[in-house]
Amino acid sequence: MIDAFDTQHLWHPYTSITHPLPALLVERAEGCCIHLTDGTVLIDGMSSWWCAIHGYNHPVLNDAITDQLTKMSHVMFGGLTHQPAIELGKMLLDITPKPLEHIFYADSGSVAVEVALKMAIQYQHALGKPAKHNIMTTRSGYHGDTWNAMSVCDPVTGMHQIFGNALPSRIFVDAPKIGMDEPWDESAMDGIRSAFEKHHEHLAAFIIEPVVQGAGGMRFYHVNYLKHLRKLCDHYGVLLIFDEIATGFGRTGKLFACEHADVVPDIMCLGKALTGGYLTLSAVLTTAQVAHTISEGEAGVFMHGPTFMANPLACATALASTRLLIQSPWQHYVERIAQACRTAFGDLKSLWYVQDVRILGAIAVIEMRHLVDMPTIQRECVARGIWIRPFGRLVYLMPPFIISDDELAVLLDEVSDLVRTTLAPTPKDSAEARDE
Ligand SMILES: *Cc1c(COP(=O)(O)O)cnc(C)c1O
Repeated sequence: MIDAFDTQHLWHPYTSITHPLPALLVERAEGCCIHLTDGTVLIDGMSSWWCAIHGYNHPVLNDAITDQLTKMSHVMFGGLTHQPAIELGKMLLDITPKPLEHIFYADSGSVAVEVALKMAIQYQHALGKPAKHNIMTTRSGYHGDTWNAMSVCDPVTGMHQIFGNALPSRIFVDAPKIGMDEPWDESAMDGIRSAFEKHHEHLAAFIIEPVVQGAGGMRFYHVNYLKHLRKLCDHYGVLLIFDEIATGFGRTGKLFACEHADVVPDIMCLGKALTGGYLTLSAVLTTAQVAHTISEGEAGVFMHGPTFMANPLACATALASTRLLIQSPWQHYVERIAQACRTAFGDLKSLWYVQDVRILGAIAVIEMRHLVDMPTIQRECVARGIWIRPFGRLVYLMPPFIISDDELAVLLDEVSDLVRTTLAPTPKDSAEARDE
């Protein structure tokens, strides 16, 4: 079930070569299930990190990719174009809010963030404001692992400790404090308002994950924060970038999370579920105002052009996946998952060692008061026939939208039981929880 070459030679996400976490050998995946080579079948609670919204090995997506494969798998996007890129572009402009109307295809979520930040800087430069070259963001954010993406991740839980001085220094404001369903309080904007006053002359853009802060803590915050943020950005000539890489394509119950707030950014990053989890592809959307300003500026062009830009296999799959999504009763799927999670996890809040349970769309988060030991939990989950991957104090689920009622019931029962038994703190955990 574990491969010796893999253990000794292959790096996995955020792991050590000398003390790796076990990586389970997968043979295939189908629907909502991951099949290991030893015959174990796991019900997937992670959608492979927000991606596999239609589950695995989907016939429609398989057809789209094989059909494209027979025509061409790739051609350079410099000087050439193709139907998959064009059709996907039309689709994305159809489903995203106006006035986003220009699209840059990039390779991955992190690269989309790099591209978005570069757009903002080039925009300010073209406006004759080269001093506006820094970025403001909130704490508890996550925007990816490349250099500039990393620089706008949470400065404590992110990678600033290690990369410190090598990273560009960004302006951080406190994470949005008021939860999505809590009463709004205007004073919540005081800190950010004074940060804008103080720093606006140096700010090109503000980047944030709308409504849901994902890997930085799985927090859901009040939509008024975004409404006020939009006004502050407009007032100070700062572009607003929404990173919808995790939240896009229905996950939060709206097609895009910004719809909860009815706020449109100047630049929007999409990724993850864009191809239904088949291939890496991202898209950066922006307004005519930003695109035209950059194009009329001194450089005259936007300075980015990845080798695999608009890869036809990825675009064709993304088009099929997005079509499949909007033609499906996805709101119903997502609400069904939300409802089942509310029912299954409602009582967990009363456990003294559970800090919070929050559910939004097809995202369920159980926040513990103590750190969760991932190797133990992983072993236990595999024994129970489910696949989840907690981090820090968070046990969370974002299953494929197509999960069946039966699979969902098993997944939620097992997670709920896990929280009541294996995750009940040992005396050591309790001491740590008290110390916090
Ligand atoms: C995953 C993620 C990224 C990075 O995407 P990659 O494809 O892993 O580079 C950026 N922003 C958010 C909000 C994400 O969840």
